[in-house]
Amino acid sequence: MTPYFSRYFGNPSSLYRFAHTSREGVEEARARVATALGAEPEEIYFTAGGSEADNWAIKGVAAAHRKRGDHIITSAIEHHAVLHPCRALEKQGYQVTYLPVDEFGRVDPADVEDAITDRTILVSVMTANNEIGTIQPVAEIGRVAHDHDVLFHTDAVQAVGAVPIDVDAMGIDLLSLSAHKFYGPKGIGALYIRRGTRIESLVHGGGQERGRRAGTENVPGIVGLGRAIELATADIEGHNRRIAAMRDRLVRGVLGSIPDTRLNGHPKERLPNNANFSFRYVEGESILLLLDAHGICASTGSACSSASLEPSHVLLAIGLPHEEAHGSLRLTLGDANTGEDVDYVLSVLPEVIGRLRQISPLTPACARMPEIE
Ligand SMILES: *Cc1c(COP(=O)(O)O)cnc(C)c1O
Repeated sequence: MTPYFSRYFGNPSSLYRFAHTSREGVEEARARVATALGAEPEEIYFTAGGSEADNWAIKGVAAAHRKRGDHIITSAIEHHAVLHPCRALEKQGYQVTYLPVDEFGRVDPADVEDAITDRTILVSVMTANNEIGTIQPVAEIGRVAHDHDVLFHTDAVQAVGAVPIDVDAMGIDLLSLSAHKFYGPKGIGALYIRRGTRIESLVHGGGQERGRRAGTENVPGIVGLGRAIELATADIEGHNRRIAAMRDRLVRGVLGSIPDTRLNGHPKERLPNNANFSFRYVEGESILLLLDAHGICASTGSACSSASLEPSHVLLAIGLPHEEAHGSLRLTLGDANTGEDVDYVLSVLPEVIGRLRQISPLTPACARMPEIE
């Protein structure tokens, strides 16, 4: 990316020769994204990230198909970048069905089919969930949508680099991705739009991105995205094998050493890097604080410090009671992690949970660990 901040500073839309290198950088990145998805370069549109790509897919398709229908089908566990545009469309008079998921977070393609009416214009179901890692039966959902002549969008922001993507084989018409989820730069993403798909623009102005997304391109970001997606998809199987082996050891270690604990998400159909637990009797944000004090970065579906006090919509949708959703912990592994990191977490976490349970008013006396002197 570095030379595109300075040496190749030309505006890709300009005609002078100096702009040529910037333009080439953008088009090379576009070709790389297309290759990673099994798409054509002219079907790739750069955006300012995953949220813009999701908003564009949903609002853009809704606006372009308003005469044909006003019904959208999505799932209850989508990222807010999908759910909130759907809410916004409901306020404009669109109808949205939020499909339930099973206890593992899977959407049933038969439910998609049952929900389709002659007013349905779009099905939007994510490829993999960001909280619990569950991978959806995307190809089956795509087939159902196409059988009924309905467009299919998938938020693949979590999936790129972990789930092999082929937009044709999977029946995908629109796909969102974001570079920083696969070690690229932040603030850059892309929307794949199948050739011939009618969609309105969100950003009007100049003629960039084939007239569909105005604004001078984020050239260094695009170049970084292109290189990152190439690296992330070069050896998905090998990468998954390494990460999943560490993750499985982490899961076994946690479930084996901490009682009253469950793994959230699907046991098999899940992202290789994702582990999401619920620890009964304790609260997620206190776990995070204690882990942080030990140099471990994690996240939670709890929301004790947020205004709404509502825990994660994903954990509630898989049927967790409020207390267990509040006691959740998400640990994700990345390329930089080693087996030693897993050992370290396994040495710290049982003690952290034990300490919190000791002081938690929710812990029944029989589940309290003996006082450690
Ligand atoms: C991170 C994420 C997004 C939003 O992407 P940004 O690039 O941060 O806007 C959307 N969907 C999913 C599933 C995500 O994980």
